[in-house]
Amino acid sequence: RVLQYGKMPLPQLDADLAQAYEVSILSEQPDPEHFLAEQGAQFEYLVTSAAMGLPARVIQALPKLKFVSSFGVGFDALDREALQDKGVRVGYTPGVLDDCVADMAFALLLDATRGLSESDRFVRRGDWSKGRFGIRTRASGKRLGIFGMGRIGSTVARRAAGFDMEVAYHNRRPIEGSPHHYLPSLLELARWSDFLVITAAGGDSTQHLVSTDVLDALGPQGFLINVARGSVVDEAALVTALQQQRIAGAGLDVFEDEPRPKPELLALDNVVLAPHIASGTHETRRAMADLVLHNLQQYIATGRPAAEVPWSAAQ
Ligand code: NDP
Repeated sequence: RVLQYGKMPLPQLDADLAQAYEVSILSEQPDPEHFLAEQGAQFEYLVTSAAMGLPARVIQALPKLKFVSSFGVGFDALDREALQDKGVRVGYTPGVLDDCVADMAFALLLDATRGLSESDRFVRRGDWSKGRFGIRTRASGKRLGIFGMGRIGSTVARRAAGFDMEVAYHNRRPIEGSPHHYLPSLLELARWSDFLVITAAGGDSTQHLVSTDVLDALGPQGFLINVARGSVVDEAALVTALQQQRIAGAGLDVFEDEPRPKPELLALDNVVLAPHIASGTHETRRAMADLVLHNLQQYIATGRPAAEVPWSAAQ
């Protein structure tokens, strides 16, 4: 028996799970709390997604829980403490989404700099016949700063080579053998960058690290691109910086409160907004679904998933 926390981002995965296991979907129960109280003790395996997460309250209602298979690479919304308390292992889907998330970072970067979404609105409004669309900033050949040079960050760096960009990065530690310039603080990286791309993990250690100071270091010619987590950016500070044009623009796939981006953002033309869709292609979502299934099968067969969240693997 498998407990699904909610419906998965790919309907075919709901069907695949239902075919392979006896599945109950918690969010579909008429009274989820009552269901947990009555049947929680029957489940050893649970499936969720990075976006839905998994709260301590649910983990604590599942006394026999052994393994969680999560759809996605972010694990900031899974309650680590509650999972570790019970020694629950956690599988996730790293690697298979790097290309599409990096593609999205570049889509947002090009859109923000060249004004593509804004120009689309301009043409549809019929403004083209009344005058010219303003000229924009060149993207190729510029300095790209990557905050979080991990799997996705290094895929962004490879794309930057095709745009003749110079790349620098900031992580907590420099990467041995990396061809890219390491800057020991985010502030220095922002000061150096024309484009600051956020691909660092979310969670407590990165909460609001992109602050007013970092945005001011990026400066009035600089663009911020965030495909990681909304929590990494102080969104109120970003709104002010965009309103006062203390940075040139931004491209955002993620927000502090999803699906409710700050209303002030909706009124601004110097920001491109996407509804957390960076991994949302048929190919990538299928590959993520396959890894969710594979992790579950592997755990059941061997006691270890194929891809395990680092703090889970360390226990
Ligand atoms: P990785 O773990 O490979 O990379 C994360 C990077 O962040 C590492 O280089 C790490 O370096 C750095 N980092 C983490 N914490 C800090 C910190 N406090 N200060 C500085 N650097 C830090 O993860 P992925 O590349 O696979 O994924 C990155 C994130 O992208 C995910 O955590 C997820 O939240 C987000 N994501 C968003 C998607 C979307 O749809 N928009 C889709 C998929 C992922 P170090 O440990 O050396 O500091």
